Amino acid sequence: MEMQGEPRHAGMLAGFPAVAGSLDAAPEAPATAAEDFGHLISRRPLAVLRPGSAHDVAAAVRWAARHRMPLAARGQGHSVYGRAQVEGGLVVDMSSLGAVRAVEPDRVVVDAGATWQSVLDATLPHRLTPPVLTDYLGLSVGGTISAGGIGGMTFRRGFQSCNVIELEVVTGSGDLVTCSTMRHPELFDAVRAGLGQFGIITRAVLPLVPAPEQIRLHTLTYRDAPTMTADQRRLLTMDGIDYLEGAIRPHSSGWQHVIEVAVGLPGDGGVPAGLSDDQAQAESADMSYLDLFRRLSQLENQLRSTGAWRHPHPWLNSFLPDSTTDAVIVELLRTLDPLELGEYGRILVYPFLPAHARTPLLRLPEDDVAFLVNLVRFPKNDPSLANDLVEANRVVYDRVRAAGGRSYPVSAVALTQADWKDHFGPAWPAVLDAKDRFDPRHLLSPGQEMFPPR
Ligand SMILES: Cc1cc2nc3c(=O)[nH]c(=O)nc-3n(C[C@H](O)[C@H](O)[C@H](O)COP(=O)(O)OP(=O)(O)OC[C@H]3O[C@@H](n4cnc5c(N)ncnc54)[C@H](O)[C@@H]3O)c2cc1C
Repeated sequence: MEMQGEPRHAGMLAGFPAVAGSLDAAPEAPATAAEDFGHLISRRPLAVLRPGSAHDVAAAVRWAARHRMPLAARGQGHSVYGRAQVEGGLVVDMSSLGAVRAVEPDRVVVDAGATWQSVLDATLPHRLTPPVLTDYLGLSVGGTISAGGIGGMTFRRGFQSCNVIELEVVTGSGDLVTCSTMRHPELFDAVRAGLGQFGIITRAVLPLVPAPEQIRLHTLTYRDAPTMTADQRRLLTMDGIDYLEGAIRPHSSGWQHVIEVAVGLPGDGGVPAGLSDDQAQAESADMSYLDLFRRLSQLENQLRSTGAWRHPHPWLNSFLPDSTTDAVIVELLRTLDPLELGEYGRILVYPFLPAHARTPLLRLPEDDVAFLVNLVRFPKNDPSLANDLVEANRVVYDRVRAAGGRSYPVSAVALTQADWKDHFGPAWPAVLDAKDRFDPRHLLSPGQEMFPPR
């Protein structure tokens, strides 16, 4: 085994099993694992394991269980509130398990540390795609399946966690288990949207569907939020649409409200008739399917060049029921200072059908239609402002809860165990049972702050 590190850690890591990958306790690896995209929380682990196989992950978990050492998988570290961090414990850097193993006509087999970008790079030459992609392809497969994974195809196909054929998982006891709806379904239902609490996903078998080579992206502009969401509700059930999102952006004249609708080509590529947008401002652009999902990486390149990609990101993600969405958004727009979002920030707003979700631990509003409402904040680089915005997120979180909404728990909000209990509602007893069964020592992903250590 390759092992790098400071001698003072040697004692605590004594007896660590031989692994095909490497264990790194030298200062740089723990320092990197103590940061994430949020840059709001920093907890330093003792060491970082870069597993060479799922067996390495299982051996590390068994060792950690014997030594009562907390540990967490880190996908791509795009958490915004320290959720993949472990103070004084072990971080399992899943990026070393990032291979795409096989592309078959109806499925792809991937290591869970693979990014969605590498999955798409492997499937698109076969004109195939996973059914649902996130806006940003730099996230890991294991990371988004552990959260849910929502994007512009969710309105038709549910979440990424609902589009999984089989998973290979290392439980908190160190057992390597293959699970699906047919095999060990309790584990399959616990790890999807399980926020890393019940096991580390090491491999995934995902379905594939045909991908259009080209799409036409229509950007429709609206005078206000209620007019925009009314058209999103219409588009939600219309045939022939492949992608549906929307956003409210700071603008020199106040707020700009836009819907994005993509339609696969060939075909007429048109947008359905009878919508209420300002037709003088409507724009259309043809692009490859891949370019549709590369738009956020273009923004990433721009923000990396100015350093802003590494600034604090106090993002807030939530799901609102149809019945209260408009009122909450209108109130938000009245009270929100555009500077809290920043020049590149936005409020993402788009609808989906909760009945399409087949992930028991994903907590969604009860209406037939729900809206994702996310505060995607790129404020100026000021730690004190960032802390104020985390506090402001709590106010919005409470407002969302009061309006019958749920948190999408990839947000920069401090949560107590009481908040988690409230979040899971009737599913909380199932969460407690699964924790007792699959991670009895409460060692996995402590950064979620869902369970006190045992
Ligand atoms: C720029 C950007 C764009 C985003 N766009 C979207 C979007 O369009 N749709 C959407 O749904 N979300 C989006 N997100 C949120 C994102 O899905 C979550 O933050 C997700 O957890 C990040 O994945 P990651 O691989 O970086 O995970 P990490 O941040 O590394 O980990 C997050 C949590 O998952 C656990 N985890 C990671 N890997 C595994 C594994 N293999 N097995 C078990 N647990 C694991 C970690 O322990 C931790 O608790 C976005 C985030 C960013 C920063």
